[in-house]
Amino acid sequence: MTKWLVFLEQREGAVKQSSIDVWNLVQEFASLRPDVAVSGLLAGPAAIGHLESRLAGKGVISHAKDDGFMLYNPERYLRLVADTLKKEGAGSLFFADTALSRDLAPRLSVRLHASLLSGCPIFDDAGADDGCCRRPVYSGSVIASFAPLRPLKIYITSSRPTRSAASSGTHIAFVDLEACAVAGEALFPLLRRLAMHQGTLDVAEAGTIVAGGRGMGSREGFAPLEQLARILGGALGASRPVVDEGWRPHAEQIGQTGKTVAPSLYIACAISGSLQHLAGMGSAGTVVAINRDPHAPIFDVADYGIVGDVHLVLPKLIEALQEFLKKG
Ligand code: FAD
Repeated sequence: MTKWLVFLEQREGAVKQSSIDVWNLVQEFASLRPDVAVSGLLAGPAAIGHLESRLAGKGVISHAKDDGFMLYNPERYLRLVADTLKKEGAGSLFFADTALSRDLAPRLSVRLHASLLSGCPIFDDAGADDGCCRRPVYSGSVIASFAPLRPLKIYITSSRPTRSAASSGTHIAFVDLEACAVAGEALFPLLRRLAMHQGTLDVAEAGTIVAGGRGMGSREGFAPLEQLARILGGALGASRPVVDEGWRPHAEQIGQTGKTVAPSLYIACAISGSLQHLAGMGSAGTVVAINRDPHAPIFDVADYGIVGDVHLVLPKLIEALQEFLKKG
């Protein structure tokens, strides 16, 4: 029997949607392989009551629910995952593409001598056990195949898969894991807490994203975008020049060297729409673009476009939304 382990990440007690998507994707592949058993690992205290209805397939999820896993602590997480892999005898480990997994997975691959394949959502052949997978490279113009060289494989999947709801065949069980302690761990939770409070909602998780580009002009130029994101209950995103200028944190960067997002609504403000930016938001649902250049490439992928100066358009849009919400 081949065993696959999926790491489920929580943030402030809520399991991340991206982890749930990866679990469901892995279950989809496993359903083609009668010889594969899927299990999960959830680190940190989390509400699991409503979780079962969002998880597809079958499997046992080990839950390390003690408070020590609430915040990311690399050494502690590393030990937990390594121990669980060994206990389960799993040959493949799957992560969602998050800041945590980008830190933890490379550490694990070095410690456990495992092959690390990141950004590989497409398996070459779910019937084979070679673990090969494919992913788009050069901004999506070519699909490259990757073959792991070591028996233990770690995957970070970067695109948001189709959500599959739990069906009648779903059977998920949770088992509690004992706490484990690591010397000198006290510093890590503090660092992680600082990092987590930089932003409000993670762009990779958001259903609505209001993103700003170089044309916003300055750090202060993002104030109306923050307001718009607040009104819509969304997250703020940014293009790379904005991050390079230090106007917004790297955690908000979308694109080839930033995060891959798939919100239902993406509002691109003063973003030209370079290939590298589109590589990160190509799976967005409805795209609205505001740009003063009618020939900006972002309009090629936009469902709705407004040609105009963001500094004039945004206040009007915000006012109209506020009026609309007051009436509603
Ligand atoms: P610009 O291209 O300068 O566009 C600004 C836009 O704002 C223009 O269309 C302009 O018409 C409009 N504008 C200006 N003022 C106003 C106004 N007042 N009102 C309305 N519109 C206005 N980029 C990313 O975003 N993410 C990545 O991850 C990324 N990775 C990269 C990786 C590599 C290897 C390389 C080489 C590049 C990468 N880039 C990435 C950079 C990318 O090539 C573009 O340079 C970048 O996306 C452009 O950002 P922008 O649209 O904000 O700026």
